[in-house]
Amino acid sequence: MCGIISISSDKPFTSEELLTRLKRLEYRGYDSWGYWNGKKLTKEIGRITISDDKEPVTQAISHTRWATHGGVTQENAHPHRAGKVTIVHNGIIENWREIKKDLEAKGKTFLSETDSEVIVQYLNHEREQGKEIHNIIPAFMNTFKGTFAALIMVDGDENVYAAKRDSPLALGICDGRLILASDIYAFSDITKQAIFFDNDEWAIITPKTYMFYKDGKKLDKQPQTFEWETLEEDKKEYPHFMLKEMHEEPSVNRRLIDSLATDQKESFEKLVSLIKKARKTVFTAAGTAYHASLLGASFLHQCGVNAQAIIASEFENFITIDKDTLVIAVTQSGETMDVIEALKYSKANGATVASIVNVPYSSIERMSSLSLQILAGQEVAVASTKAFTNQASMMLALAQAFGYENGLDALPKKLSGILSLEPELKTLAEELHEQHDLYVLGRKLGYPVAREIALKIKEISYVHAEGMMGGELKHGTIALIEDGVPVISLIYDDDAKMRGSTQEVRARGARVVVIGTTKDADIVIPADSEAEFAILASTVGQLLAYHIALARNCPIDKPRNLAKSVTVL
Ligand code: GLU
Repeated sequence: MCGIISISSDKPFTSEELLTRLKRLEYRGYDSWGYWNGKKLTKEIGRITISDDKEPVTQAISHTRWATHGGVTQENAHPHRAGKVTIVHNGIIENWREIKKDLEAKGKTFLSETDSEVIVQYLNHEREQGKEIHNIIPAFMNTFKGTFAALIMVDGDENVYAAKRDSPLALGICDGRLILASDIYAFSDITKQAIFFDNDEWAIITPKTYMFYKDGKKLDKQPQTFEWETLEEDKKEYPHFMLKEMHEEPSVNRRLIDSLATDQKESFEKLVSLIKKARKTVFTAAGTAYHASLLGASFLHQCGVNAQAIIASEFENFITIDKDTLVIAVTQSGETMDVIEALKYSKANGATVASIVNVPYSSIERMSSLSLQILAGQEVAVASTKAFTNQASMMLALAQAFGYENGLDALPKKLSGILSLEPELKTLAEELHEQHDLYVLGRKLGYPVAREIALKIKEISYVHAEGMMGGELKHGTIALIEDGVPVISLIYDDDAKMRGSTQEVRARGARVVVIGTTKDADIVIPADSEAEFAILASTVGQLLAYHIALARNCPIDKPRNLAKSVTVL
């Protein structure tokens, strides 16, 4: 969370260019934003407004915030400044209280409630003791606990300094300029060359040169070439990125399926053999990716593979890991901090770590022995749609390799068919949009889908929605069902148990909407397998959630309190 950017340039630039680049990272957090260009400090609450301060400079740092410590106020917005030092920070400083207390005892006055301000106060204090900034940064990295990607400028100094532990940071090698940023999207329109920071590295950046250091030694780091689809960056004719991204599902799904038989064939076969070799396979993920993981675990389970899916933030509390375990991280951004922690724990316990990611060269890709890409392209809307579809399709491909016939090849075409159901779903959404609570029921493969549909509705429309196992309903939640409460039932092939659960809520007055495969369903999905039904029903849920949010006039692409890449614990 939080997006940070610096530009160090040969040719002068103004705030317009800096903020245009920062805006590309706004999906990482949008509570407040700010920049420092060596002359002017700007800090504002809310969404980034791109303005031109007509102040040509050759270096600047900037930040778009997702608040962790301290409210959404102008004082808490980054950059933070003390004496001649200015910083922006992504991450959480764990020992900020002790350090703050110590600095306050030394006479420093803090201006914000953030954990980040201790970084700048510390650096400034050390400078006041006569130390040089390049000696202070290693000391800062030894003293501070927690996670950080920090960019530092010192008045009168022509360098930008950068330090990283766990929070993501990349250096874009551009013509006549170097750009430090939280992710490659900040500069992917002008370069395909980047250097990725590893943990506990720090760097000195000028417009043309970069020097990397770790543990007192200079490093020889080389740029890597990354591939990234730039065609997917603008909204085109769509009112929202979310709708545009749903409409891309057929094409990105085809791209993934084709790549598994060509470019990614070798990696895919390696993953299959890792699963065969392991005593058990554990998927770990958060949010939407967890629901795709649940589908994966269920698919593999049906093929006789010992597979589970565990939510990353509770990973070590619910699973035993050893050297015979294969842990597969599933993450769109490849930067999810909860997943990174689960992987560290897995590695420490001897497990083999693989990953299924969307953003190339992400931290999780780099910490995995083997990584596959879902090739969904840039997903700008905070609520994941096409990435989920491709994560779930990757699971289907795995299941297929274990003999589970599921018609994966026909999926892109069927997804196009689902998109044509939009008018029906819009009408349904208009009927449902004023409800306060909504329930989604599923069994077997329908269960993860029920949870995913409910999550999508919560995220973007702010309607309370609960996705649950149809069988669990009678063990408590049914107490909440009364006249008119909407319940969405996912019924594949007239499944008798799901029919039973649906009757139970209907008998208590629920307004039931059946998403199913038989003609009497309210929304009919032409699926030939349960797996296909699961993926297609998820897209139906995405469209429904979109239209509920639209009818409620919600900020669909950037829902309140959320951010796309969750890089804090
Ligand atoms: N902890 C910092 C703050 O609250 C940075 C937050 C983040 O990186 O998400 O300002």
